[in-house]
Amino acid sequence: MIIGVPKEIKNHEYRIGMTPAGVRELISNGHEVLIQKDGGKAIGLTNELYEAAGARIVDTAAEIFATAAMIVKVKEPQPEECRMLRDGQVLFTYLHLAPDPQQTELLVESRAVAIAYETVTDARGGLPLLAPMSEVAGRMSIQAGAHALEKAQGGNGTLLGGVPGVAPAKVAVIGGGVVGTHAARMAIGLGADVTVLDRSLARLKELDNLYGPAMKTLYSTTDALEACVREADLVIGAVLIPGAAAPKLVTRDMLKQMRPGAVLVDVAIDQGGCFETSKATTHQEPTYEVDGVVHYCVANMPGGVARTSTFALTNATLPHVIALANKGYRQALQDDAHLRNGLNVHRGKITCEAVAEALNYNY
Ligand code: NAD
Repeated sequence: MIIGVPKEIKNHEYRIGMTPAGVRELISNGHEVLIQKDGGKAIGLTNELYEAAGARIVDTAAEIFATAAMIVKVKEPQPEECRMLRDGQVLFTYLHLAPDPQQTELLVESRAVAIAYETVTDARGGLPLLAPMSEVAGRMSIQAGAHALEKAQGGNGTLLGGVPGVAPAKVAVIGGGVVGTHAARMAIGLGADVTVLDRSLARLKELDNLYGPAMKTLYSTTDALEACVREADLVIGAVLIPGAAAPKLVTRDMLKQMRPGAVLVDVAIDQGGCFETSKATTHQEPTYEVDGVVHYCVANMPGGVARTSTFALTNATLPHVIALANKGYRQALQDDAHLRNGLNVHRGKITCEAVAEALNYNY
């Protein structure tokens, strides 16, 4: 099969859908891979590295869309990309169709076979192609929070780990899922005093087993939240209620009781945020202040570490890319119910119930 990887064209998107290592795997499986010129250059994945792995470097996206049987990307296709898709061509990428009627319409019109990373499932009920980005955002939240705590950034001037003779900073992580666990792990690694709050007792038990006394766990009630947030130097918002907007767990009133120069990092901002005073920010201007509390609310945190994010994402997508290429999409989807859950649009028809419901399509 010919597999094509265009350069991402969304604003400030530096990730790429395949690494040279992925190219090599596909070539050894008997496939051909086209990479758009300079597609990975911004993160150090040069044309030479792709060529050494066996890829053919192609000048334009138009050539890739016209030649490849399967397109592998990172971000949802932009309108000009949707218009280049062909009947029966496979598109494997993040789509996030439910809030995006224009893209959905264009994909339906294209009659392509669109498989979305974000709805592929695994045997444990997780979303394995979304998880790597949560891992990145979780770990990054502590790095971002530690930086924001510095005096020059508006923070209260506390070093997360303290030093001998000086107490470490207090970190509260609200939500102990993928983001929260990776945030807590980083904060513990830096020597901070870490408390994780969650509404799932089962999850808190798992975390307790994993980290023992290095981490405190608290059942998430308003009482517990209030007490924890009041004392914290750094609060990480990492809750998710699947399919719903994030609940506003830290209110403006709670903010007023926080320490001046404390920092909130709202990772859940892509679902509306879990602090009442959160509004989405960008990597260019990541923070702002409300009532003396620094807010960091970047909606696409993994984009800030595009190189790590590319490797993390492609490690998870590659086995599926290989299955789709080796077996053809029909057989690959038939053999794997979890990959089949990724199918959102099939040759002019919406095949994902949630998307059909959200946008009033027949399902
Ligand atoms: P997850 O499902 O693994 O974990 C969410 C956790 O929140 C669960 O353990 C759940 O029990 C807990 N929770 C729900 N309600 C709660 C409450 N009232 N109090 C305390 N805990 C509660 O989800 P995740 O993968 O960790 O993602 C968390 C959020 O981060 C999501 O909104 C996700 O979209 C977002 N995210 C953002 C970025 C970014 O760049 N900003 C990147 C990746 C993920």
